[in-house]
Amino acid sequence: MIRNTRKFLDRIEKEGWLPPEDIKRLRKYFDFYSSLETGSRSPDNPERHHFVQMCLGKCKPVGPHEHAYSEYMRWRSVIKRGNTSPKRPTPKRPSLERPSPKRPSLELDGRTYERKSRKWLDTKKFIYPAVTIASRLDAKAKTHGMSPNCQAWDEYDLVQSHREYVESKGEKYKGVTRRSKKGHRKTHCYQCQKELDNAIDYECLNCKWMLCWCGACGCGYKAGWRS
Ligand SMILES: [Zn+2]
Ligand SMILES: [Zn+2]
Repeated sequence: MIRNTRKFLDRIEKEGWLPPEDIKRLRKYFDFYSSLETGSRSPDNPERHHFVQMCLGKCKPVGPHEHAYSEYMRWRSVIKRGNTSPKRPTPKRPSLERPSPKRPSLELDGRTYERKSRKWLDTKKFIYPAVTIASRLDAKAKTHGMSPNCQAWDEYDLVQSHREYVESKGEKYKGVTRRSKKGHRKTHCYQCQKELDNAIDYECLNCKWMLCWCGACGCGYKAGWRS
């Protein structure tokens, strides 16, 4: 195995780009795989023939050997493109589509409330009710099995307000992603001052900050913003 390849495999391992069993396989059989890919060894059985076809991109990888080598080839081409810090496949972004045609609504004491931005809005007076009423509405929503539906709408509203926030800061909106678990810390939102914690699962793809329910992230943040 040439020195560069060994170094490259070390890097793949260190960065955790491939599972350990793939690394192991690549270290053990690399020269063999490579000889099939480069053509210095001719495929002398159907499996090896398939391996060569896979290397040429003519078929999908089958079995552990082909999977390991195809992943190696993928990372090799990523590095070749000059991307020195290749990313893992981007996590699926939450849908921007409305979760259901109608916002969840509830009746309480003869009034109708609609879910909006994590709150219940009095649809007649267009005000958000007092905390006591809001918590009764939350409890009612739970017993009516509306919780998942409410959450979908809360997240939809979050994404909308975050887009507005980012654009208001003159930044290009890139979307949101599921928050990465590592590096999580408790902090507070510098727009609304509320504490940010595990309750929100998303972070801004632009600045990588945790999102606040008010839609704010770290975009446009400047030291000394308080003054
Ligand atoms: Zn906030
Ligand atoms: Zn941001």
